[in-house]
Amino acid sequence: MKKLVIVVLCAVGGLLIATSIAQENAKKEVMKTQETAPAAPTAKVEKTDAEWKAILTPEQYRVLRQAGTEPAHSAVYKQFKEQGGGTYFCAGCGAELFSSKHKFDSHCGWPSFYDATDNKNVILKDDVSFGMIRTEVLCAKCNGHLGHLFKGEGFDTPKDQRYCINGVTLLFVPEGGKTPEAKAPAEEGKQ
Ligand SMILES: [Zn+2]
Repeated sequence: MKKLVIVVLCAVGGLLIATSIAQENAKKEVMKTQETAPAAPTAKVEKTDAEWKAILTPEQYRVLRQAGTEPAHSAVYKQFKEQGGGTYFCAGCGAELFSSKHKFDSHCGWPSFYDATDNKNVILKDDVSFGMIRTEVLCAKCNGHLGHLFKGEGFDTPKDQRYCINGVTLLFVPEGGKTPEAKAPAEEGKQ
């Protein structure tokens, strides 16, 4: 009988040790996961209406912050058509949005791209305003309205989709030029 008690006690003891080792390993695993976790998603840029008005032109404010649309075939669109190789950044927050590689002439009167350079900086949202079902394109960083995305229009591009973007929301930097990040530290210094 004593033997049986000892065996049972040993078994319980062994189980307790095994459980505690397992818990310890689980803790280590969690720590390891935290250490190697990828960087947080794009940091958000949040400003008050007054702050946006101070840094944007009235037309940029109307489009980016009030989901407006610039007139078709505007002066900005004409400039866009003449621009060569480079990158397009958000005029509100400087996030990288589009590349001249994906630019194409859709003859619609607004800058057109068939893809976004880095889709993590572009978010899509259902838009049912004006009695239409459309996909709104927003900047992921500042939530600024950029334009709309249309699919299946039959354009001869690698992806049959058109990011129809308001030119005033874009900041063009030619290849080899300084990115808007150069502006960011000064902005931060002001705060
Ligand atoms: Zn932005």
